Amino acid sequence: MMWAVTLTLGLIVIAIGATVGSFINVCIYRIPWQKSVIWPASHCPRCLEAIEPRDNVPMLSRLLLGGVCRRCGLPISIRYSLVELLTTCLFVLMYCVDVVIPNLDRYGSVPVDDLIRLAYDATLIAFLIVATFIDYDLTVIPDQITIPGMVIGIVAGVWLPTIRSAPSHAITHADGFWFGMIGLLTGGGMTLAVRTLGSLALRKEAMGFGDVTLMAMIGSFVGWQFSILSCGNGTLP
Ligand SMILES: [Zn+2]
Repeated sequence: MMWAVTLTLGLIVIAIGATVGSFINVCIYRIPWQKSVIWPASHCPRCLEAIEPRDNVPMLSRLLLGGVCRRCGLPISIRYSLVELLTTCLFVLMYCVDVVIPNLDRYGSVPVDDLIRLAYDATLIAFLIVATFIDYDLTVIPDQITIPGMVIGIVAGVWLPTIRSAPSHAITHADGFWFGMIGLLTGGGMTLAVRTLGSLALRKEAMGFGDVTLMAMIGSFVGWQFSILSCGNGTLP
């Protein structure tokens, strides 16, 4: 790609990453309590003042406000900004892997296929960040995250069979479905087996069922070929 195109797309990826990161914060704090992630708009937990658009710019607003609520001075956790920064960095990294590196020597048209793959991979990253922080806070991984994730992973794979990276890159819609479905079953199944054996060996619950659905979601996105790899890394000591 031309460097100007690479840079422009990169800046767009940064803006999307920061915005998604901000929405991820809303998801982390609301989904476990069955609250809507759309309504009401973000507000200060103490003075209940709605957060103005100028105070809601990812990462920058907190710095400009000196880390406190504009109205009541309640300190704003640094974690909001760190989640936004993490999301932005991972999106940029994924942009390099999916779009920049495969197109280093290609000039001319914008690689639409690679940008669609980036959107798909970034969706998985976003779901994983939400799941990770909720798991860290409350040691649960809600089905409201993993089940929609599985559906998106499978449906996108049927709709655009080439969306997954090689070797899970399919040609036909049927293969796109089966790569994802077998990925879901192997990811979930292998984790379930480890959980069952671990629980028998330790005589207590070795890991939560949320880990099983989480690996099933990852499998539905990456396909069975990568699913086996990530299971090996994720569940074995
Ligand atoms: Zn306040």
